[in-house]
Amino acid sequence: MLNGKVALVTGASRGIGRAISLQLAKQGAKVAVNYAGNEAKANEVVEEIKALGGEAIAIKADVANVTDVDAMVKETIKTFGSLEILVNNAGITRDGLIMRMKEEDWDAVINTNLKGVFNCSKAVTRQMMKQRFGRIVNISSVVGVLGNAGQANYVAAKAGVIGLTKSLARELANRNITVNAVAPGFIETDMTDELSEDVKQELLKQIPLAKLGQAEDISAVVRFLVSDDANYMTGQTLHVDGGMAMN
Ligand code: NAD
Repeated sequence: MLNGKVALVTGASRGIGRAISLQLAKQGAKVAVNYAGNEAKANEVVEEIKALGGEAIAIKADVANVTDVDAMVKETIKTFGSLEILVNNAGITRDGLIMRMKEEDWDAVINTNLKGVFNCSKAVTRQMMKQRFGRIVNISSVVGVLGNAGQANYVAAKAGVIGLTKSLARELANRNITVNAVAPGFIETDMTDELSEDVKQELLKQIPLAKLGQAEDISAVVRFLVSDDANYMTGQTLHVDGGMAMN
């Protein structure tokens, strides 16, 4: 399905990013596996892709850093010759109630989760415009739609990602570049591992499908959005949340 396409996935050494990388590789895409710090884990993803008969490289870059991002995009294009797919997945949390939230916690989350999407999208745009083809998928969150106490920084960033998605979709449509977002609900990854059993039970009550999501639930929808089946979709945010944000 994605034979001949090149994908760059940010924050791809574990969790949802890892699942997306493997999913796109299984469809035939060559994958640049971005990581911030854990080289060993990123290399494991590369090896998994190679074991499937695919092609992949690991690239270290902090998505919040423009110099890193520009170098990462250049390296991807130099290695594979083109760049059709960008998945902006890298993200962090620094939770806290507003009165106690430190400025650095606000800045770190906005810089990674929102500015990171801007940096990477900007960096790939020239190449995608030249190709007159591009598929950008941004990983937002259900809380970007619903809000969440104790996550003002994260929610502001994830809501910003939805607005950024719509603006870029309008701006880039005439070059056949689509920009969509996925808003996951509660997905079992390292990011959510620390939540107590009580919190998880409370969350379950808010999920109509009454189960937590898996990384593969998200990667399946990303695969759809970058496939030809979604050629006529842009500016959309798909909620993959067991029905959490229905209302
Ligand atoms: P995770 O913590 O397992 O993965 C996040 C990845 O991003 C990590 O590999 C991390 O190293 C990387 N990263 C962090 N800062 C980076 C930076 N500056 N530059 C490059 N990489 C960086 O979490 P996950 O659950 O797999 O989350 C993936 C995405 O999905 C995030 O954007 C997250 O906000 C979003 N999301 C997750 C959930 C969930 O329930 N797990 C729900 C909604 C949205």
